[in-house]
This record gives sequence, structure tokens and C-alpha cells, in this order.
Amino acid sequence: MFGKYKRLWKKSRLKSSYDAVIIGGGLHGISTAYFLAKNYGMTDVAILEKRYIGFGGAGRNTAIVRANQRTKENLRLYDEGLKLWPKLMQELDFNMLFFNCGNLNLAHSEAGMSALRLQVASAQFHGIQSELVNAKQCKELVPVLDISDRLAFPIFGGMYHPPGGTLRPESVLWGIAKGASQKGVQIHQETEVKSLEIKNNKVVSVKTGDGKKIHTPRVLNAAGGYSALIANMAGIRLPVDVLPIQAMVSQPLKPFLDHVVSSGVYHAYANQSLKGEVVTGSHMDPWPGYTTQVTARYIKHQAEALTELMPCLRGVKFMRTWGGLADMTPDMAPIIDGNHPIDGFYIDCGWGYFGFKSAPVTGKYMAKFMATGKCPEILKPFTMKRFAQHRLSGETASPVNYGPWN
Ligand SMILES: Cc1cc2nc3c(=O)[nH]c(=O)nc-3n(C[C@H](O)[C@H](O)[C@H](O)COP(=O)(O)OP(=O)(O)OC[C@H]3O[C@@H](n4cnc5c(N)ncnc54)[C@H](O)[C@@H]3O)c2cc1C
Repeated sequence: MFGKYKRLWKKSRLKSSYDAVIIGGGLHGISTAYFLAKNYGMTDVAILEKRYIGFGGAGRNTAIVRANQRTKENLRLYDEGLKLWPKLMQELDFNMLFFNCGNLNLAHSEAGMSALRLQVASAQFHGIQSELVNAKQCKELVPVLDISDRLAFPIFGGMYHPPGGTLRPESVLWGIAKGASQKGVQIHQETEVKSLEIKNNKVVSVKTGDGKKIHTPRVLNAAGGYSALIANMAGIRLPVDVLPIQAMVSQPLKPFLDHVVSSGVYHAYANQSLKGEVVTGSHMDPWPGYTTQVTARYIKHQAEALTELMPCLRGVKFMRTWGGLADMTPDMAPIIDGNHPIDGFYIDCGWGYFGFKSAPVTGKYMAKFMATGKCPEILKPFTMKRFAQHRLSGETASPVNYGPWN
């Protein structure tokens, strides 16, 4: 049986030059490479990954997808992103286990309901299915929710978003990596970029850990939690804080939860995987760091929050817990830029805990940016210039916000 094992992507020899080098074998890097090859015929592309494909957030996330963000620039991008999954599965002929179960975000006060009302209105204005529901309707959607006033923060209602759901992160990663490789993109694991060479304000080459110099006119910084370090190599300081974020999975249970439920107030979200496990995550650690260790503080918090919201979970055992890094910008919107301030140096980072759902659609437009040198309209609001121009995104006003500052 093992003899029949086939590699999903080809092994190849690292060349000394490419049309484009992508730093980071996460979903954003791989998606961009795939669309560069597919949409622009740019196949002389190398993805350089310091560890293995999915070592970063791409292999550690809880794979929740939705398009009910707060601001119009985000709504547009995430809506297109959500609609892309079925098309992508079809064109790649790869089952990414898209489970369109819908998302329910809870509110625990009148103020919380007002904030959700505004968010629902923004989504509806942009043609995105989202509705405000009261506590009784929350219970109808998720019968195991406790809507009594026993809770420290009783449930007042919620925002219901039927088009959202979950996927299987590894399948997404492997499917797109396979597609990119089939189109000629090279994937080099255990290949760390250590420095960039810039001449006359133009990217010229990257240098790897084992001293190899790779010439290229285009470099994409898609290094997730490590993107600020890559930007430093180009002399650019990114307004990104890196915060550890943890997740857990319970023992498998009979089906009881067929929506993603989240609460900003309880700092917790949960859904039940197709295998029956409760997949749950929460807020980030409130201090910056590059550790991916898990903490007892987090496990305790998660157990308390979930059993309060869904008392039927008392006594259920957690099986696995893990940590990853969230690259957070001050306005909870990503940084997407290119040819500024250095020609040929592109940036796609700052996704915090939103970078899974946004990856294929951003990759599609990032590929256009890199192939043509012109930033597509949909990506323009995410330029780094917004920080210098005091035009921060309003996404921090979203009630679905588990930032370290709330
Ligand atoms: C616990 C957790 C839960 C999450 N849940 C969700 C969710 O439900 N929905 C959602 O949308 N998002 C979620 N996220 C966020 C999401 O996972 C990330 O935003 C996303 O994976 C970022 O993708 P990326 O491609 O930008 O970076 P990554 O996937 O982090 O990839 C970056 C890669 O760059 C590599 N690298 C770094 N430095 C170098 C170097 N010098 N040379 C070569 N390679 C280098 C790293 O090894 C890494 O593999 C979650 C994240 C975590 C940690």
C-alpha cells in the first residue's frame, strides 16, 4: 500500500534564477504561485519554505471561512474569497471538505446587538447574506446553547451568516500546492531565506541558509508571522505585532453542532468537524512572542467559556492543543503592497487570524499584481501607505474581534 504513495508536488533542483521567488510555503505564497502559473503563464517560480509546507498558520488554523466582515473593502474581498472555494475545488479536482454550515456570532448585551445590527446592515448593503437573530432563534439554530440568564454574560442574540463554514486546512494546502506544482512551480522545503540583495532600489536576489544566491526580479514576502523579519531584510519596518494564538480539538462526539458558533465576549469559538471533534479557538495571548507553545491558562479559559455557553460539553476531553502565530496590524486589516518602496519587492502579510479564508482570493489578485506590476483595485485599500496617511481600516469596530486589546 505504501509503495503506491505518490508525491503531491514534484521534487526539483534549486536553480540560480527564477522569474519570481516566493518566501513562505503558507497558503498565501502557494496560492499566489498557483495563480501566477495558471492565469499569467508564469511558471518559472520558486516557493522557498524554511521548514515544510504548512509549518506556519496555514497548517495550524481552525479553517473557518466567512464573508461578514465590518468594512466595505474587507467585505468585497472576503465575499469573493468565499465564493471561490467551490470553483477552486472543481478546477483542482481536489476535495477540500468545504462544510457550508453557516456561522453564528453571539452578542451578550444591547450594545453588542447594536454593533451586530450595524455589521449585518453593512453585509446586506453589499449583497452578503447575514441576519440579526434573537436569543430564541440562536437556540433554534444551536439547540445546545444555554440562553438562560444563568450565564455571566447572557446571550442577547446573534449575527447569522449562512454562506460561511469550514474546510479542511491540510486539504486546501495540499490541493493548491499540487496544482501549482503540476503547472511547473517549484516548491523547496527546508530552504530558508536569510537575506535579500537590493541594488539601485530594486530587488536583485535572495540568499538562502546554505549560502546559495538566487537571482530574481520579483520577491513576494508571504512569511506570515515572520514577515516583519523578511521586510527588515529589505530595510522596511512593518507595523505588525506577532502574537501567539492557540487552538484545541476535543474527543469525537456524536453530531450535535452544525454551525460555527463564536462569542467575542467569551473569547471563544467552536464548531464540530466532520469527524465529530469539537474544534475550538479563542483570543490571542495578550503579549507579543514567537512561541507556539500551549498554556494551561488557555486550556482553562477555553474549557470554562465553552461549558458555560454549551453546558453539554462538561466532562468532554480535549485531545490535542497547539499554537501558531498571528501577524496583527493595528487596524486588523492586512498589508498588501508592491514596488513600494523597493521595486520588485511585494508584501502580503498582516492577516492575523483571517489569513486562511482570504488566501486563495488574495493569491489570485496578488498574482495579477506581480505579473503586471499594477495593484488591482480590490487590493489597493490594504497599501502600507494607509498608516502614514492616517487612513486606518475600521475593521477594529467589528464585534467579531478577538484582538489582544479587548
Ligand atoms: C490557531 C490558529 C487558528 C486560526 N484560525 C483561522 C481561521 O479559522 N480562519 C482564518 O481565516 N484564519 C485563521 N488563522 C490564521 C491563518 O492561519 C493565517 O492568517 C494564515 O495561515 C496566514 O497564511 P500565510 O500564508 O500568510 O502565512 P503562513 O501560513 O504562516 O506561512 C508563512 C510561511 O513562511 C515560512 N517562512 C518564514 N520565514 C521564512 C524564511 N526566512 N524563509 C523561508 N520561509 C520562511 C514559515 O515557515 C511559514 O511556513 C488561524 C491561525 C492560528 C494560528
